[in-house]
Amino acid sequence: MTYSGKWIHIDLSSGHSKTGTADIGLYDRYVGGKGVGFALLDSLAPKPEPLGIDNPLIFVNGPFTGTQVQTSARTCLVTCSPLTRNILDSHCGGHFGPRLRAAGFDYVLITGKADHPVTIQLSPQGAEIQDASSLWGKGIFETTDTLLSAHPGRNPRVACIGPAGEKLLKIACIGVDKYRQYGRGGAGAVMGSKNLKALVVDGDLQIEYADPNAFKELNRALTHDIARNESVLFRRDKGTMKCVRSGQEFEFLPTRNFQLCRFDEFEGISSETCRRELNWEDTGCFNCAIQCSKIARWDGHEVEGPEYETAAFLGSGCGISDCRDLALANELCDDWGIDTISAGVTCSFAMECYEKGLLKDWEGLKLEWGNADAQRKLLRLMVQRKGVGKIFADGTREAAQWIGQGSEDFAVNIHGMELSGVNPKGSLTMGFVLSVADFASHTRLWCTEAEMGPEFRIEDIPTVVADGLDEINTRNCLIICDFVPYGFDRLAPLLNAATGSSHTPKSLLQIGTRLTHLARRYNLNNGRTHEDDILPERFFKEPSLSGFMRGRILDKTFFRSLIQKYYRHRDWNAQGIPSPEVLRSFGLSS
Ligand code: SF4
Repeated sequence: MTYSGKWIHIDLSSGHSKTGTADIGLYDRYVGGKGVGFALLDSLAPKPEPLGIDNPLIFVNGPFTGTQVQTSARTCLVTCSPLTRNILDSHCGGHFGPRLRAAGFDYVLITGKADHPVTIQLSPQGAEIQDASSLWGKGIFETTDTLLSAHPGRNPRVACIGPAGEKLLKIACIGVDKYRQYGRGGAGAVMGSKNLKALVVDGDLQIEYADPNAFKELNRALTHDIARNESVLFRRDKGTMKCVRSGQEFEFLPTRNFQLCRFDEFEGISSETCRRELNWEDTGCFNCAIQCSKIARWDGHEVEGPEYETAAFLGSGCGISDCRDLALANELCDDWGIDTISAGVTCSFAMECYEKGLLKDWEGLKLEWGNADAQRKLLRLMVQRKGVGKIFADGTREAAQWIGQGSEDFAVNIHGMELSGVNPKGSLTMGFVLSVADFASHTRLWCTEAEMGPEFRIEDIPTVVADGLDEINTRNCLIICDFVPYGFDRLAPLLNAATGSSHTPKSLLQIGTRLTHLARRYNLNNGRTHEDDILPERFFKEPSLSGFMRGRILDKTFFRSLIQKYYRHRDWNAQGIPSPEVLRSFGLSS
């Protein structure tokens, strides 16, 4: 089977590590990835202090990570988010996950805190902790290059933090293979709180398949179909940046801090302009024929991207229309180790505060819409926690608490997490997804009314979203890339051939539902209430601009009634608390 069946736990406080044999029952119940990570976090740290020693970092692979399955690069990180104090799963591609698998581990648990900066070197021989004092303060690019050049292995891979993680910014990310990220929710700050600068993995262990012949045949057919799928070919050509144009056309493109759904100058940051101006080269993660990633090279700079989310928040969100400015901000964020989505939303929030004159002293920053130079200066100050940057360093919620004066209404976060994906003024359905998901991320479920078909009705939102969230949960357990356009009818047999399990599409979906209940219970125990399942006030005070609510102001009572319908569908009470019966039916305690 493709699982190695082994884990390693590294305690940075003592400097000791131990390995063990994985509980196969855990894989039966949760498959891998997000599911196994959530179950581990729930049992090991049900109520941790996010930046305390008891909050583990759990790097966890899925059953396909490192295998011959297309998009098998994907790997998952689970921890308790300092941004939301809720459960966090963050996913990334690149080559790190496959290398972790080749080192022989399904998951790595890191707890405690080193008394000085360290790196962990992980290989089939185990973990070695090394001094990293000379790397502290360095950016992700230099750190990665330094560690790779010093590593004796054949194909090492690096996950590390930059200055943002060291300074514990709650929007700090972990950089992987330089240009990939465990981006959302402040995982970089958790790593920084442990004085852990980097995790380096290497190995060359082979993966075995439960039924190699069946696997080969199923995988060959899937690969064949992916390679010829029209949506895949389009995605390879345009990248995720295709959504800039569709966001403009369908009117959901976050613009000027979610005030607008269209950006007059969107062509400047469109996929087509980026390909031309940034000399894009198609590239991809480990074993991926889709190749949605793009290497940008311009004026002596090089970065992978920009991705759509980066464009939507550091670009149109801030009124910035030059793709070189966008790519430069992208490069700085990747190097300093700050999530481009939260950073972009926070910059756009700052620009609106500037427009409204909510701070007496901006220390010379002219944060007008479209001022890319001022945006870069603000990002630098945030990462350094200096001057006005201190106010914005931990995202919009904390900034609005500091600034007050009604700024909470347009600090666009849900329970601390900056919104991603689309502007809810352009898609009620997406606003609903972001409100009820375990955290407000575009990776939970991507849907706009237009994409749900002409028969789709407002009253369908709660049940359709519930099913969609569960399905994506399971995909995040398999850790198949969002961009594989096939469902469980193809993936269940492949999983069974790979691991020897006997899943059906239905049993896989049940795992996603179990995970929804588990995450809900965890989050309620960690401070979330039903009052938090709501969009920021902006969306109830200003007219929606497209979708179901075009031209109308979304009524909060109506929105709450949809949420109540969602709770009932889940068998949660009016406070959004899962009933003991439903928890028991999924094998979870109350
Ligand atoms: S589709 Fe894109 S993000 Fe997904 S694995 Fe391939 S290159 Fe990576």
